[in-house]
Amino acid sequence: MTHILRVLIPRPVWRTYDYVLHDATSNALVGARVRVPFGPSSVVGIVFEVAARSEHLGELKQVMNVVDQQPIVSEDLLKLAFWLASYYHCPIGTVIETMLPTDVLRGRAINLEPDFEWAIVPQGEKVEFKRATRQQETWNLLVNRGALTDPEIRREGIARSVLTAMEKKGLLRRKPLLPKYQFQDRGIKPTAEQEFAIQSVLGSLNQFGVHVLDGVTGSGKTEVYIRVIKEVLAKGRQVLVLVPEIALTPQTANHFRERFGSVAVLHSMRTNLQRFEIWSRVGSGEHRLVLGTRSAVFTPFKDLGLIVVDEEHDSSYKQSDSLRYSARDAAVVRANDLGIPVILGSATLSLETVENINRNKYKAYRLAARPGTAKLPKFQLLDVRGQSLRGGMCHPLIEIIRRHLDGEGQVLVLINRRGFAVSVVCHDCGWRANCQDCDVILTLHEQPCRELRCHHCDRRYELPDHCPDCSGNRLVSVGAATQRVVETLAEAFPGVPIRRIDRDVINTNRKLEHTFTELQLPGRCILVGTQMLAKGHHLPNVTLVAVLRADAGFFSSDFRAAERTAQLIVQVAGRAGRAEREGEVWIQTYDPDHPHLESLAKSGYRGFVETELILRRDANFPPYSHLALLRAEGSNSEEVKTFLHQVLREVTGTSTEKLGPVPAYIPRLNNRWRCQAALVDRSRKRLHEALGKIAKIPSPGSRIRWSIDVDPIDMS
Ligand code: ADP
Ligand code: ZN
Ligand code: ZN
Repeated sequence: MTHILRVLIPRPVWRTYDYVLHDATSNALVGARVRVPFGPSSVVGIVFEVAARSEHLGELKQVMNVVDQQPIVSEDLLKLAFWLASYYHCPIGTVIETMLPTDVLRGRAINLEPDFEWAIVPQGEKVEFKRATRQQETWNLLVNRGALTDPEIRREGIARSVLTAMEKKGLLRRKPLLPKYQFQDRGIKPTAEQEFAIQSVLGSLNQFGVHVLDGVTGSGKTEVYIRVIKEVLAKGRQVLVLVPEIALTPQTANHFRERFGSVAVLHSMRTNLQRFEIWSRVGSGEHRLVLGTRSAVFTPFKDLGLIVVDEEHDSSYKQSDSLRYSARDAAVVRANDLGIPVILGSATLSLETVENINRNKYKAYRLAARPGTAKLPKFQLLDVRGQSLRGGMCHPLIEIIRRHLDGEGQVLVLINRRGFAVSVVCHDCGWRANCQDCDVILTLHEQPCRELRCHHCDRRYELPDHCPDCSGNRLVSVGAATQRVVETLAEAFPGVPIRRIDRDVINTNRKLEHTFTELQLPGRCILVGTQMLAKGHHLPNVTLVAVLRADAGFFSSDFRAAERTAQLIVQVAGRAGRAEREGEVWIQTYDPDHPHLESLAKSGYRGFVETELILRRDANFPPYSHLALLRAEGSNSEEVKTFLHQVLREVTGTSTEKLGPVPAYIPRLNNRWRCQAALVDRSRKRLHEALGKIAKIPSPGSRIRWSIDVDPIDMS
């Protein structure tokens, strides 16, 4: 019997390829890997269809060998691959490359057998071993313990041959070793708000639906996920929980492990082999609870029953290169295809999700209060106009900090710039230190040594003693960054421990974990840090959060910057007052009348959302329109711009709005010139038709590279 196999090839190709296979016995090959000739060599591809004939002309090449005897990629995942390719206008081959772990693409054999333990087969009469003393000892041990796993057997120094010999005699058998998922309620009783959300989701477990948990920080969203997960696991089905970041927050994984006894963790820090192992054990149905970051949305499941996307607003769900997909949106598409619910949770919902709620596409549950006595902090604005700043802080702020320290509270200062000073300028002629390879100003660092650094290409420079333009010697640093704030606070509060949290000091997960663990203990302390502070840690003793310079984001040309800034402020503020002590949040600003700040102070994130949605609607920006960003970069700025003009010219006969091309927010990076254009349309369908006209335009060599980003998050 001859079959035509349609194969997905993990190379940047826009189409699939047909191959011939003789003697194939069944159609069970869909989702299995095959090795096929491709170009001058061979690749491992995935079969997505078995057909009787091919539409391709000419002779088809033959499959070299079939790697898997059964599917390893589920059908819903294959469908998702095609959806991703068409939605993000990305070559289907690139989608496959992104979705599958490296070792899967290398053709590594997948063992779908679960681990097992050795157990005794109860014997009617007393077992006589005669001269087989090793067997006798093993038997005695097993009678004592019931069963032994492989690692235990190794520890006991028992040879495997002894066990297999006993297995042959019918004395032992292998018992699959499956995670047990025993639920611990830890004495937590869901609040009425939590219970309502839990019951609503449980009431529609067998159908697709997007359930949004709109819960303030610390309101117990995780408890809602956990209760729903418990029921899905009890039905024998599988659950996927997506989180933005695991490496920095091992406590999330620990928490799930404590509550369920077992959780499989998938993230990019894993080695290829670890990823591969977990991937196959989820596919076999052995692991039923999976916690992972972005790419975990591509894990094959045997019987997925629920997807949870925690912190759904987080921009790390969007991949910024190659396949520019959103894992949150892919999760919704996958859930829809499988007919299962998906829960999106956040204290600072993305505006897309808010709009989907407003249009009744998503169902929302509000958790407005924190369980127990914990209270939500109040936002207050601190007008710094006309005040002198020391280390980026005005005198009243220093006094507020003093008040909290005197009350034995902990203080958290958010300053979203690492280094010592934002820039170095010449006091005489206004010269600014710039990176030679990028159009950005250099940041001054004092720790671990004094130097100027480019935060974009990481190039480092010595600090000049004279101005290169006017030779003046009055070079001054302006704009406080983390190191400067720490220095100033150390002078103001001698003896108070101060910790800095930014990428320069916290370069390992262990360090972050250590710092946050320390802060669980009571006692005066100041924590100065960047957005790293926003990651979901509980800091029960923090009573004050001070935000410096955060309003800068409200003046950016990137239309999403305001949303990101508000989310950051609210998330960091959410660290405060989590225990019995009420928290305060002070935002230092030059612009207390700014509508965003006013609404944030008056009615929190919800207030911000209302204001921002009006602005977005007026400007016809997402979520009221659909947008795709076209980026191009090259060694010559004119060429790059001309190229984008040409691309836009291909978009004809449509009402889709064309914007640009204009220089990117950072016009030059690593000596490459960058330009961007955008396509905007109220109709998603029309936008995709327009993109379809240009998606396959090749990059003109390495001189210019270009890409399409559908639903971009970062507009730079
Ligand atoms: P969120 O994810 O919404 O920020 P968490 O789920 O981390 O909040 O919950 C915050 C704290 O409240 C946790 O320590 C959690 O154990 C606790 N908690 C959650 N629900 C309840 C409840 N119903 N009763 C008491 N404590 C709860
Ligand atoms: Zn000068
Ligand atoms: Zn640079």
